[in-house]
Amino acid sequence: IEYDTADIVILTAIFAATIAYFTKGTLWGKPKDLFADVAHTNGSAKAGKTRDFVKKMAESDRNAIFFYGSQTGTAEDYASRLAKEGHARFGLRTIVADIEDYDFENLDTFPSDHLAFFLLATYGEGEPTDNAVEFYEFLSGDEPQFSEGASAEEKPLQNLKYVTFGLGNNTYEHYNAMVRRIDGYLTKLGATRYGSAGEGDDGAGTMEEDFLAWKEEMWQVVCKEMGLEEREAVYEPVFKITEDESLSPESDTVYLGEPNKNHLEGKAKGPYNSHNPFIAPIAKSSELFSVKDRNCLHMEIDISGSGLSYTTGDHIAIWPTNSGKETDRILNVLGLGEKRHNVIRVEALDSTSKVPFPSPTTYDAVIRYHVEINGLVSRQFIASLSPFAPSDKAKAELVRLGGDKDAFAEEISSRYLNIAQVLEMLAPGQTWSAIPFSLIIEGLTRVQPRYYSISSSSFVQKDHIAITAVVESIRLPGSKHILKGVTTNYLLALKQKQHGDPNPDPHGLTYNITGPRNKYDGIHVPIHVRHSNFKLPSNPEKPVIMIGPGTGVAPFRAFVQERAALAAKGEKVGKTLLFFGCRNSSEDFLYKDEWPEYSAKLGDSFKLVTAFSREGPKKVYVQHRLQEHADEVDELLKAGAYIYVCGDAAHMARDVNATFGRIIAEKRGQTEAQGEEVVKRMRSSNQYQEDVW
Ligand code: FAD
Repeated sequence: IEYDTADIVILTAIFAATIAYFTKGTLWGKPKDLFADVAHTNGSAKAGKTRDFVKKMAESDRNAIFFYGSQTGTAEDYASRLAKEGHARFGLRTIVADIEDYDFENLDTFPSDHLAFFLLATYGEGEPTDNAVEFYEFLSGDEPQFSEGASAEEKPLQNLKYVTFGLGNNTYEHYNAMVRRIDGYLTKLGATRYGSAGEGDDGAGTMEEDFLAWKEEMWQVVCKEMGLEEREAVYEPVFKITEDESLSPESDTVYLGEPNKNHLEGKAKGPYNSHNPFIAPIAKSSELFSVKDRNCLHMEIDISGSGLSYTTGDHIAIWPTNSGKETDRILNVLGLGEKRHNVIRVEALDSTSKVPFPSPTTYDAVIRYHVEINGLVSRQFIASLSPFAPSDKAKAELVRLGGDKDAFAEEISSRYLNIAQVLEMLAPGQTWSAIPFSLIIEGLTRVQPRYYSISSSSFVQKDHIAITAVVESIRLPGSKHILKGVTTNYLLALKQKQHGDPNPDPHGLTYNITGPRNKYDGIHVPIHVRHSNFKLPSNPEKPVIMIGPGTGVAPFRAFVQERAALAAKGEKVGKTLLFFGCRNSSEDFLYKDEWPEYSAKLGDSFKLVTAFSREGPKKVYVQHRLQEHADEVDELLKAGAYIYVCGDAAHMARDVNATFGRIIAEKRGQTEAQGEEVVKRMRSSNQYQEDVW
């Protein structure tokens, strides 16, 4: 979408002015609810909270609800942004809702002059996000039971007007499956959609632009259908922020970055989950390889006594801490450097908003632990900052970049700048002290835990979870700037601390390694475990074919470790064929010394096939090796082998999928289409599983 000057003004006004009422729902808003959140994991009502959104909207006099099904926070952010915009530009009375907090039986009683928004990410193999599972199961069921008893044929949702946008990734097979399916179910049940069912594509890197383009058209339809008029919007902060001089950061009640109230009070207890991390000791850490600008960590995290458990193939989530360097950068650019440890009270100005972290707190704690300060910068957010620029020149630049998609892509996104770097660039040497701190909290997302495929077997080491992580350090050609991954560099610093390494990060990153109030001292890291469906066949005699180049080998180390242990116990183990790829055998060959040990236990049933892309005259990747082993692969498939693919979603997983289709076609005298069909069927029966990112 192209914007002219008038659009730019509107765009600028939109976000700045649209800061209305609601923020991303989080546990921290009301610490007293902590236990309730944690204890009720089956979608039962949180203590004192209704699961009836129709009632909640009536009680709080709202006419538009923005549900989000979010895994990494983007759908949640979009819901929050749309709600603010809907209020500020069009006077909608909005509420943001985590989709798992409500029941949907009474969707048929939704008032016809109200509007429901569904911002839905697709996760993994076309699955709903964790928080949207119940909603999805309800609507996709054979016959959803609505409160007024009408059957599906009677079109029970005729009153429902809705808007929907999906967040997907075209490199996955089931692109935007959630939004497509939910949209289908809702229409079939008689509901009316306003605007198109939008689709954002993370695979093409156009998510934000897809969203911006979609929403402008959507608002036009909503205005027309609901008879709304656009109004001039003014910035309304969501949060009131007051400095409290009666408290010091040492005061017991001040949050310095603890994940929640129990952690603050030293009473952290399980169950540990995505709302309540376990502060886990790191039992062991090492570097699997380390070459210029590239290294890979192996860590073992001790979960004994936590009540947490995992099974081979699960994921572990690591809750990162921002680096000191980037925390300093943004605090300084906002003119908060000197005040960083002042105690602040953060209160929601509207009763349905929630403060997304505990309060009272400090500027430093909010920035260091709660806000994603390193992420991709949003064009809409840049535009929203223009009223607060320190000079006319900087303001004009913000308006220009906010309104020009191509300039923004070239000057900001493609250079991997974070928000503070953008502000530094646009007003060198100046501070942006007019930006309300509320706007920073509202406009930047919450720092998200990152997931890692567990690289140990729960059968072999049930209390020690291993991870295998490449440290992200990306140098752009012709630029001095290096993008440093948030979590992996934090993990690297933990490893360095554990070993008393004398060489700190060459790019000046430092971390508050001992955590808030030194609670992570002794090398601890906050974690939780996420269960996955990526599982070995229950019968160990079944053959398996695994393709895992680079860190994609992580879960396969676990699989092989498990099968080796079973073999050592005398169990019969089926063929275990692993394709591993990396640059070269002497540089980044992960677990090079371990494979022979497994081989000794598994004998002929284990085979490792390697592809070293930079060793020969021609680049060789795992899919080429797979093709070379076509006979063996086809034999194993005929014997009922399971296929597992892990690692890069964008290229490798697709190429491997296509290679399997080709092998089947060639070996069985079928057409390519028939070969692909066989692979498709294997995928739907879970005989072909992917764990890709
Ligand atoms: P981040 O800070 O999150 O940065 C990651 C990327 O985001 C950058 O490379 C860049 O492309 C982009 N980015 C960040 N900031 C900007 C910016 N300002 N502008 C533009 N682009 C930006 N990884 C492993 O190493 N091993 C595993 O076993 C593993 N398993 C996984 C399993 C699952 C299910 C998933 C979803 C992911 C897995 N990952 C794994 C990836 C892992 O979760 C992290 O994404 C990865 O380690 C990088 O995290 P980070 O915090 O260091 O980097």
